[in-house]
Amino acid sequence: RNTAEKFEFQAEVSRLMDIIINSLYSNKDIFLRELISNASDALDKIRFLSLTDKEVLGEGDNAKLDIQIKLDKEKKILSIRDRGIGMTKEDLIKNLGTIAKSGTSAFVEKMQTSGDLNLIGQFGVGFYSVYLVADYVEVISKHNEDKQYVWESKADGAFAISEDTWNEPLGRGTEIRLHLREEAGEYLEESKLKDLVKKYSEFINFPIYLWASKEVDVEVPADEDESSDEAAESSSSDDGESEKSEDEDAEDKPKTKTIKETTYEWELLNDVKAIWLRNPKEVTEEEYTKFYHSLAKDFGDEKPLAWSHFTAEGDVEFKAVLFVPPKAPHDLYESYYNANKANLRLYVRRVFISDEFDELLPKYLNFLMGLVDSDTLPLNVSREMLQQHSSLKTIKKKLIRKALDMIRKIADEDPDEANDKDKKDVENSSDDEKKEIAWQKLLRFETTKSDGKLTSLDQYISRMKSGQKDIFYITGPNKEQLEKSPFLERLKKKGYEVIYFTDPVDEYLMQYLMDYGDQKFQNVSKEGLKMGKDSKAKELKESFKDLTKWWKSALASENVDDVKISNRLADTPCVVVTSKFGWSANMERIMQAQTL
Ligand code: ADP
Ligand code: MG
Repeated sequence: RNTAEKFEFQAEVSRLMDIIINSLYSNKDIFLRELISNASDALDKIRFLSLTDKEVLGEGDNAKLDIQIKLDKEKKILSIRDRGIGMTKEDLIKNLGTIAKSGTSAFVEKMQTSGDLNLIGQFGVGFYSVYLVADYVEVISKHNEDKQYVWESKADGAFAISEDTWNEPLGRGTEIRLHLREEAGEYLEESKLKDLVKKYSEFINFPIYLWASKEVDVEVPADEDESSDEAAESSSSDDGESEKSEDEDAEDKPKTKTIKETTYEWELLNDVKAIWLRNPKEVTEEEYTKFYHSLAKDFGDEKPLAWSHFTAEGDVEFKAVLFVPPKAPHDLYESYYNANKANLRLYVRRVFISDEFDELLPKYLNFLMGLVDSDTLPLNVSREMLQQHSSLKTIKKKLIRKALDMIRKIADEDPDEANDKDKKDVENSSDDEKKEIAWQKLLRFETTKSDGKLTSLDQYISRMKSGQKDIFYITGPNKEQLEKSPFLERLKKKGYEVIYFTDPVDEYLMQYLMDYGDQKFQNVSKEGLKMGKDSKAKELKESFKDLTKWWKSALASENVDDVKISNRLADTPCVVVTSKFGWSANMERIMQAQTL
């Protein structure tokens, strides 16, 4: 079109689209799930706005918050339409092409190694999955504050935007038209789409309709020469009415006959009853798993590690479902530092409010997924007002307790016993300590003595040698490497237990975690290791004084801080130790890997 404005995709987005187009990924179905999820997000947004301003919904059909799917077999077009918030011209330019989200390059990178396109939604680039099945896509959108626009692209590095002067006005919302590729013909079959919506969109809280064909019996005037039975079989005419034969006085003969005719109507494909409103006893494990997958946009076959579905009563009433994911989310660290990212969806009386309320869970629990639906919170206030609401504190308290209970159950073989002891310890401590202790008790790790199993800090302490003051640990990339470390030689020989910290996050944790109860943590590769008294230490120090002095001057002072006689080794003659406040060698390694 002449009047269209042309834009180039941002480079990373373009790369992503190339990958999708050329992908041999066989599960192309996922595009529909992504489009429905976007439609549902857009509907959530307009519904939220309508809480404080009814006008935004408009009247008649416009106020219907639903999703409609239509097929055009002849033109090979599949279209998905929502009456959500819509996109302004600027939104179209930004959201669909020019602004790469942080997940874009992360996803491109991931595709080059392990390549599971199924994860696309998690990285915030689900829209582009349309190019798995289409070679040309039009996005028609109408936002309350702008005119209707068409975005279109053949995924050739560019897209175009035009003011829409030719399509039917949408009123409000978005219609995505997929011009399907030759080999994607199956998505023009109603049965296929019905199956997919059932499979992928079970937990969408808006009705999804398909413009579906239906065989109906129609009464048409009977043809005099034929018996009605034969007529039903031979006649496929749907304009039978035009051949109406006037037959006024034949009361004994049948006047009409029945034929099959194809008509179209909107068929509702999903059941919108929210799973969290149901009685937990009646929800199956499979349903929870599927619900987790849809919340996390993680459609693998892994089950969540644990979940907790409960109703809180009292001053503040709410229902909640919390999940522990099977593995850490890919953007865990990023979301830790990003105030606006939470994995918990907040609803008020079934209306989605926000997934950016980080007031609901403390940061250390931000890996949990789930939702909270409260009847107590007010509906008709702004997000900012809600954020200040005093009930949130109560909700948070209850969520933390339930979350810790749930994690404890994963951690302990005998959860009840451990729970009681843990609860007492937590109860007996001061307020600030309480928080610390509660999560420190959940830490699990391997040690030089744990025999491949996981152990807790309490278990470690119960095994400490008499005279041992500190909790010993060592950090490194993996257990195999650590087992061979000279730092452990003597500790092992003397029977001390040492914790292996092998996850990069452990290094960050240990910068923060100074002690646990009365015990201090001691990195055995750092200065300050004390294994109890050594009677010969003073004597040795004296007799090797000249050697240590010479050595220190031989190694220029920018290379080492000090040279000391030590009792930490058994077979290795010497070892380089990190200063007390410096980065461990492992931390240096991690930082180096990050800057590459
Ligand atoms: P995500 O949904 O994770 O944000 P997508 O790639 O699926 O990522 O969508 C990109 C953006 O495009 C969305 O964040 C939204 O702003 C916009 N968008 C996509 N589909 C619609 C729609 N049907 N209605 C309104 N906005 C949409
Ligand atoms: Mg999306």
